[in-house]
Amino acid sequence: MSLFKDLGLSQEIVDSLIELGYEKPTEIQNISIPQILSSKNDLKAFAQTGTGKTAAFSLPIIQQVNTKDKNTQAIILSPTRELAIQIAKNIAEFSKNIPSLKVLAVYGGSSIEDQIRALNRGVQIVVGTPGRTVDLIKRRRLALDNIQWLVLDEADEMLNMGFKEELDKILESTPSDKQTLLFSATFPREVENIARNYMTSPIEVTAGQKNVGADNVSHEYYQVTDRNRYPALKRIADVNPNIYSIVFCRTRRETQEIADKLIADGYSADSLHGDLSQAQRDMVMQKFRNKNLQILVATDVAARGLDVNDLTHVINYKLPDQAENYTHRSGRTGRAGKNGISIAIITGKERNKLSPIERKIKKKFVQTKVPNGKEICEIQLFKLIDKVHDIEVNEKEIKDFLPDIYTKLEELDREELIKRFVSIEFNQFLSYYQDARDLNNDDKPDRKRAGDESLTRFYVNLGKMDDLTPARLIGLINEHLKKRNVEIGQIEILKSFSFFEVDKNYADDLLETLNGAEFNNRRVIIELTAKKKGGGRSSRSSRGFGRKDTGGGRKDYGGGRKDYGGDKKEGHRGSRKQSDSSSGPRRRRR
Ligand code: AMP
Repeated sequence: MSLFKDLGLSQEIVDSLIELGYEKPTEIQNISIPQILSSKNDLKAFAQTGTGKTAAFSLPIIQQVNTKDKNTQAIILSPTRELAIQIAKNIAEFSKNIPSLKVLAVYGGSSIEDQIRALNRGVQIVVGTPGRTVDLIKRRRLALDNIQWLVLDEADEMLNMGFKEELDKILESTPSDKQTLLFSATFPREVENIARNYMTSPIEVTAGQKNVGADNVSHEYYQVTDRNRYPALKRIADVNPNIYSIVFCRTRRETQEIADKLIADGYSADSLHGDLSQAQRDMVMQKFRNKNLQILVATDVAARGLDVNDLTHVINYKLPDQAENYTHRSGRTGRAGKNGISIAIITGKERNKLSPIERKIKKKFVQTKVPNGKEICEIQLFKLIDKVHDIEVNEKEIKDFLPDIYTKLEELDREELIKRFVSIEFNQFLSYYQDARDLNNDDKPDRKRAGDESLTRFYVNLGKMDDLTPARLIGLINEHLKKRNVEIGQIEILKSFSFFEVDKNYADDLLETLNGAEFNNRRVIIELTAKKKGGGRSSRSSRGFGRKDTGGGRKDYGGGRKDYGGDKKEGHRGSRKQSDSSSGPRRRRR
């Protein structure tokens, strides 16, 4: 493979790359850099995140910009503020030996006046989000008359995010003799339309089918029932104590919910999605980049601007609808030559989503079993042993206490001592995972159907008015049934009362223990009720059970460290700590 200097780049650029630790060009750099340096032809490049595409388009531009001219000569459009900032930062690093070259990121959510002032000082390369760029053009603060290069980075994502109009406006405002460089991970019709309408006989380049890291990525799936998705996620985290991962969810709400649960369960986790303020997003990304967070739960769009190279796992908490998005997600691991694992947690019904993805990534998913309690305990135990082995002892500080400690422990021999020290932390894990049930689900239906003969249907005098949710109801049942892992069937939460089904073998037990219990200051009443027929509402709904506030002490089933979200065994854990405990009490954003 060639070196950067062989691609025609100047010594001052090569020097900055050496300083950044870039030893050899990536595939897309090898192809694009000489092409852009040697020709004014438009370029259509298939390249995903992580391929080194930023350097691929920006190095030849940096080299060719006329630094004596203060006009804006290159405009780079990116879908998100984070990515725009990242690109501008990269360009500043690449051009650090060319002090007269100025670059600026312009994006929404930040003072436009400051950006205008910076533009007025003269900026040769502008990196902008489409919205803010159009705004500056309309205000006549960003002149595009001298543009020689226009880059559309992650063009598919910009169109996905609804920036078609802005792109049209910008493309129309730039001189026709500019060179347009379009980088996209996918080429749906909308991207092809942009290429057709605004590019002249573009050269097409593809840096392999996938990003540089994709060969190092293995794809695994875990098949569970829907309600075991979250417990499975926890086990995946537990069996990988050094996990550094993005967990992808499909909606902002789901993202927040899963992050909240992980935080409550003591994991080093946080959320990243569009409902957070820019300041909150920046803070979370900073923490994740600095590895003060192990697990980032994110939506696809929010995770876009995050540039991290050494993720151990990408976890699809739920698979995206489009196979293409899976390639975006999985491309975030296995970067810069490192190995990575892309995991999909799926239900039996979602199995059919795997084949289109397999066709796209040209690789097969390997089914992996959700680890059992013993496997997790073993891994955690050895992690603890390693920690004991590697811990640095502060001889000076501990010295004064040691004589008394030796005296106190003198009857214990070496083996006994080791066992006891290890047990201090490990007992919690052991008891947590004792009798942990098998979460794997091989083609079993998710939940017993309504009307299943093995289930008994109950009425309960609690409903949405009491903040009852399926998760809280399961929690309530778990708390009062002495036997764990009892099958729970359909749950129907209505306004002031609800219905649920439980394994008929435990019906009497439940009647006895749950009746008279308290939930949200109400005395719980449950009764056997007729099975639901067809899909209609139960006849119970017409009986109009009167609501009476029974008062009494309040019991909160909704928060704290208990998880009533579905896995009856895996309610709470005590052994893990937030890795960023120094950041004070956690924000809870809802
Ligand atoms: P990009 O696809 O531009 O987002 O780049 C992905 C990551 O790879 C970034 O962190 C870059 O700093 C890094 N990178 C890009 N090109 C190289 C290279 N030739 N050698 C090493 N790292 C690189």
